[in-house]
Amino acid sequence: MFESLQDGLSSALKSLSGQGKLTEANMREGLKLVERSLLEADVSFEVARYFMKNVTEKAVGETVLKSLKPQQQVVGIVYQELCDLMGPVDHSLHLKGKNDVTVLMLCGLQGAGKTTTVGKLGKMLKAGQRNPLLVAADLQRPAAIDQLHVLGEQLGLPVYSDREEKDPVKVCNAAIKEAKKLGADVVILDTAGRLHIDEELMGQLERIDKQCSPEQIYLTVDAMTGQDAVNSAKAFNDALEIDGVIMTKLDGDARGGAALSVKHVTGVPIKFMGTGEKLEALEPFHPDRMAQRILGQGDILTLFETAQKEFDQEQMLAQEEKLKKGEFTLDDFRKQMSMIAKPGLMQKMMGMMPGMGQMREAMNDFDESEMKGLFGIIDSMTPAEKANTKLIDQSRRRRIAAGAGCEPHQVNELIKQYDAMAQVMTAMAGKGMRDRMKMMGE
Ligand code: GDP
Repeated sequence: MFESLQDGLSSALKSLSGQGKLTEANMREGLKLVERSLLEADVSFEVARYFMKNVTEKAVGETVLKSLKPQQQVVGIVYQELCDLMGPVDHSLHLKGKNDVTVLMLCGLQGAGKTTTVGKLGKMLKAGQRNPLLVAADLQRPAAIDQLHVLGEQLGLPVYSDREEKDPVKVCNAAIKEAKKLGADVVILDTAGRLHIDEELMGQLERIDKQCSPEQIYLTVDAMTGQDAVNSAKAFNDALEIDGVIMTKLDGDARGGAALSVKHVTGVPIKFMGTGEKLEALEPFHPDRMAQRILGQGDILTLFETAQKEFDQEQMLAQEEKLKKGEFTLDDFRKQMSMIAKPGLMQKMMGMMPGMGQMREAMNDFDESEMKGLFGIIDSMTPAEKANTKLIDQSRRRRIAAGAGCEPHQVNELIKQYDAMAQVMTAMAGKGMRDRMKMMGE
């Protein structure tokens, strides 16, 4: 999947390596190559231009981290833009309770993989302890009803069809009634597709939408058909207001243009992706994972590590500055805790953070769930309370505990921990590294 895009982008980004500092001039060549690989991957001209405008603005701006090499900076920016271009995604199917019937409607051009995806969704729902009913409302393609029955049998799921009925709206309404009788809690409508979009098809889908009020409408889009797929998605969305795209055939040699463009063009994200003909080949679509795959995971991981280190160091320096002035709020406490929670960072931080020596013992067996509990308490406080814990009287304590889902005495314990840390921190601030090391050995 996306091989040419991957190759194109990686050679474009390599062309930037060896540059000392990013300037608009030395970047231009590399970015031109990035743009070319997008266009070659069948990303629409408009999307590619929008993408490049954002990347260039950010690359020239001052927002990048100092310790990254120019090539890494651009990789980071391209990565972020790819994530933004394809996301954000909410994977929820917006299911109602199990005593209600949730209607999901699937539509798409013929051959896009709609019927197969109905089966895949059915399998996913069954695995999630739901009782789906598959509905053969595609009265267009003669074999569609049989195909759905075969899928239902394979999956052990009920299928509703009516070979005599000519009106798909009636089929859908009858199926929803049947679902209630069967105790099914999700109805998945397999609607008709055409080879091309036409008014009759859209009219039919709009009627189903109006009369059956589906919770979610998903459009199946064949990734192999590139820009055509994106244009048809736009037409479907104009008529139906779809809630999400399910991009199929991402296991094939799709160039990637459709996956990169569809959200920008329609405003609707890819929710799921089909990665094979088998019924388990349906996965939630994660823009960040897709961007990592496109750019090469190794590069992104190194980039993150470098960026994270610099970010942490900057935070630590800012922290020291505050401490020197005798400031240490609960927000600072929270930040310290979350930094400590990062594996591997602990050792390095010991020598750098004032007062860490004393905290070492206490922190050693601090687990993540405890940390979350503490954060919950801090997050339930008002800014004024965080800045001055003396404000926290009995009634405030109760309110904070209720907000954090804990007992009031736990709020007290946290404040005690914070007071102790704050004392050590401010006492040690201003001492040099050598003094600090000495104190830690004590
Ligand atoms: P419909 O006309 O939209 O209902 O399309 P179908 O569900 O009949 O699928 C058309 C063809 O695409 C079938 O041969 C499916 O097996 C195949 N197909 C569907 N989804 C995928 C997918 O994610 N990957 C691959 N490789 N093939 C798929």
